[in-house]
Amino acid sequence: MKTEFLLVGQGLCGTWLSYFLEQEKREFLMLDPGNLPNASKQAGGLINPITGRRLVKTWLIDELMPFAQQQYRQLEQFLLSRSTKPVDNLFEERSIVQFFSHADSRSIFEKRATEQNDYLVLPQEELPEAKAFDRLYGYGIIQKSYQVRPDLLLASYKKHLSLSGRLLESKFEYDQLVTLSKGGRYQDIEFDCLIFCDGIGTHNNPLFDHLPIAPVKGEALIVQAPELPTSHVFKGPLTMIPLGHSGYWWVGSSYEWAFSDPYPSTGFRTSVEQTLNKWLQLPFTVTDHWAAIRPGSKERRPFVGMLEKNPAIGILGGMGTKGCSLAPYFAHQLVQHLLYRTPLCSEADLNRFKIN
Ligand SMILES: Cc1cc2nc3c(=O)[nH]c(=O)nc-3n(C[C@H](O)[C@H](O)[C@H](O)COP(=O)(O)OP(=O)(O)OC[C@H]3O[C@@H](n4cnc5c(N)ncnc54)[C@H](O)[C@@H]3O)c2cc1C
Repeated sequence: MKTEFLLVGQGLCGTWLSYFLEQEKREFLMLDPGNLPNASKQAGGLINPITGRRLVKTWLIDELMPFAQQQYRQLEQFLLSRSTKPVDNLFEERSIVQFFSHADSRSIFEKRATEQNDYLVLPQEELPEAKAFDRLYGYGIIQKSYQVRPDLLLASYKKHLSLSGRLLESKFEYDQLVTLSKGGRYQDIEFDCLIFCDGIGTHNNPLFDHLPIAPVKGEALIVQAPELPTSHVFKGPLTMIPLGHSGYWWVGSSYEWAFSDPYPSTGFRTSVEQTLNKWLQLPFTVTDHWAAIRPGSKERRPFVGMLEKNPAIGILGGMGTKGCSLAPYFAHQLVQHLLYRTPLCSEADLNRFKIN
């Protein structure tokens, strides 16, 4: 079998990379067994333009946001035209109600709202939805934020790959890779380019052991709270993101840089239930508990590009906590770079790290 591009891993990175290759009418195959850890399926799916306690703009957000808006909508249309699984509400604008934890956080918000009034606003009147929460110090609104449904997107795209004969449901074994003077071979597949989108799998990938990978475990509960209006995301001691209008909510999450296993923990569940009991003034039931490892990088910038010593092999990864906005943007950038030699963003370019 011969292909131009062999892609390893169908998370958000692999999905977007294959989509842009298909738009360019290039040949590719996707390898993913479907039963390995996948952070994208467990993600909250939020694209929040504002980050951290200081409420500063997220890195590159003014470029990422319009790109994400345009591309998620086009991908939604593309999937609908292929009539794979229904993909309604794959991507929606959803403002965030940001509850203040103390008086200081309110003053920071007020100050930033005067500087960044396109994203941060203080409501003039009480929001009826916010009455469902303990709101001692008040709240502000982060507008122009978006919610993606990566679980639906990946399932629908997987079906499309499978129907078009481009999905091989098996695990890539790193020791079976043969590099040739041009391209390479994996088992019976000859390829021109091999691109790893293997998420946390990169941690065990010998080709990329020079990268400063920083795995970050995250857990979330799935909660049923049928009386809570699904108009907003609610962000206080926890983040609550509606899963459509089903009455189910994604509630998370933790950020653990040191962990002994990738599984859901009773400690997380207990602490989230206790916090939710105090914060949310409506009844809820826990229906599920998820855990996954975010493929992060120590300097919080992605890994994008081809190896200097072997330009047939590359990576799209290291998306950390921001895969929903970074994956489409950098997948597009990588495809343009490969096909038209356009430059990569220097902060994300893989070759900022040299192999000794
Ligand atoms: C709890 C939690 C909440 C999050 N919330 C958000 C959020 O609200 N907003 C946001 O933007 N981001 C969020 N993230 C981060 C986001 O999930 C990641 O940045 C993103 O999913 C990474 O995508 P990826 O494609 O690099 O990796 P993954 O989604 O992990 O995909 C990797 C794929 O590679 C495959 N693979 C691995 N090894 C091999 C192999 N050897 N052979 C074949 N296939 C292989 C796996 O099967 C998997 O399908 C969250 C993450 C977690 C854990």
